[in-house]
Amino acid sequence: MLSAPFVSLLLFIISATSTLATEVLQTANANDVKSVCIIGSGIGGSSLAYFLRQYSADPSSPTVGDIRMFERNRVVGGRMAMVSIAGDTFEAGASILHPKNFHTLNFTKLLNLRINEPSSSSFSLGIWDGTRFNFKTLDTSSEFPLFQKLVSLVNSFRIIYRYGFSLFKMDNFVKSTVDNFLKYYSDFGSRPVFESVEKMLKWAGLYELTCRTLQEELVDAGLSPLLISELVTVITRINYGQSVSMSGLAGAVALAGSGGGLWSVEGGNWQIPAGLINHSDVTLHLDEEIDSISYLGDYYKLNSTKGNSYTCQVTVVATPLDELNIWFYPPVSIPERKLQHTYTTFVRGLLNPAYFGLHSASEIPELVGTTETPNLPFSCIAVLKKYTEVDMAYKLFSREPMTDELLDLLFSVRKETLRIDWGAYPHYTSPEVFAPFVLDGLHLYYINAFENAASTMETSAVAAENIARLILSKFSGQPPSSSSDLKGSTSVASASDEEGRHFEL
Ligand SMILES: Cc1cc2nc3c(=O)[nH]c(=O)nc-3n(C[C@H](O)[C@H](O)[C@H](O)COP(=O)(O)OP(=O)(O)OC[C@H]3O[C@@H](n4cnc5c(N)ncnc54)[C@H](O)[C@@H]3O)c2cc1C
Repeated sequence: MLSAPFVSLLLFIISATSTLATEVLQTANANDVKSVCIIGSGIGGSSLAYFLRQYSADPSSPTVGDIRMFERNRVVGGRMAMVSIAGDTFEAGASILHPKNFHTLNFTKLLNLRINEPSSSSFSLGIWDGTRFNFKTLDTSSEFPLFQKLVSLVNSFRIIYRYGFSLFKMDNFVKSTVDNFLKYYSDFGSRPVFESVEKMLKWAGLYELTCRTLQEELVDAGLSPLLISELVTVITRINYGQSVSMSGLAGAVALAGSGGGLWSVEGGNWQIPAGLINHSDVTLHLDEEIDSISYLGDYYKLNSTKGNSYTCQVTVVATPLDELNIWFYPPVSIPERKLQHTYTTFVRGLLNPAYFGLHSASEIPELVGTTETPNLPFSCIAVLKKYTEVDMAYKLFSREPMTDELLDLLFSVRKETLRIDWGAYPHYTSPEVFAPFVLDGLHLYYINAFENAASTMETSAVAAENIARLILSKFSGQPPSSSSDLKGSTSVASASDEEGRHFEL
């Protein structure tokens, strides 16, 4: 960036030579976004930085000056993170991407990252109800590819035999939701800039799905009770740790995340946010937590727990506010939202067949999914890697922490254990209520308002792309083509409110 005195001198010289030129320049400067502060270095914050740089490169767009990003951790990526267990690394948080996640696919190409191609071999699945396996597919692992294919085919027939035509109805439900979501990739000419999550969802035909539960949607779509209480429940418990009482939209996204063609980034998905930050000329403040945001007229002042202060014309919150302690002045208000905690436990060892009423560990399916049974202590257990027949790496999801006593019942061998407590995603309800994208009606934005629709890497990128357009459209002096919708439950608190803290704090 040029220094301020130098810019003034430049303007003076231009003024002396051409009044018209001065007017043009002054107009351009007045419209420029001088500084943007982003709180959070996950896929939301990093995509925002990328799209701001990308879109502001257009000559008709306001330019964007400094972008500062604050991350309270020592590494970037947020819920895209790796863990190491017994010498191997695995995804600890967000692990799979859908083949139609076009922003993340494009980022991966742009950053020359390699993709773990979707595996052609399937895995064995068991549906555990706490006392027995209601359903089990056959183990497909074999040295012989032909045998593998045959078993895989038999498994498909077994699944179709159990759930019948309902499976195709489920597929149609997911396809139509994905098709509507694809509208968010259409060009600017046909896609408005959205000032609220509600408008964004209504435009794509997705809003209604947030007003009803997944169960209601699937019953209306003609799915059998057996499919809903077994396979669908297994999937919602794996992907969001929740039951089919979750909202229809988040439920559809969970189901989409169990289809074919899923992919991930070789070496870890966190490389996407890391690469975008490097690519986007961002000043990154690692290990620096923002604890207050005040609006002081023309700019926001951000204070960090390190005692530093920063000023920015635009501030973007790229993290869920629900469990944070950020002080806002003037205060802002958002609807109360609970996060679903997902306890992720990694174990190197061997599952205990006796726990499942089996004779040998080889009879335990590679993925054990579960039904909604009271007191069932885990949502799923998956084999991550088979070292030998008696030595494997596993990942467990549960709604409560897994105690040592419980793990000792579940595992006959446990060489290493690692636990993570994620404030993972919203606990989805219906009808869903949304926080505003613009928290104060000015230049304080909230990307994760969109997480109440669904929480994925791609939905964060889609929300960030819209916020980038919203910021630039406000500075260009053109009102966004979709008008503000900050009424009702998403209202902005008045500055006279006594409480300075975020609603939930
Ligand atoms: C266990 C698990 C499994 C998942 N599986 C998948 C999956 O397979 N596929 C998928 O697409 N999605 C998955 N998700 C969801 C996905 O991880 C999230 O939707 C997505 O990563 C959210 O990105 P984000 O940038 O919005 O937020 P985050 O990744 O949470 O980033 C926010 C960042 O802000 C930082 N921060 C917070 N407060 C402050 C502060 N005051 N100052 C500075 N920094 C701050 C945080 O440290 C964090 O790094 C999963 C999530 C979990 C937890």
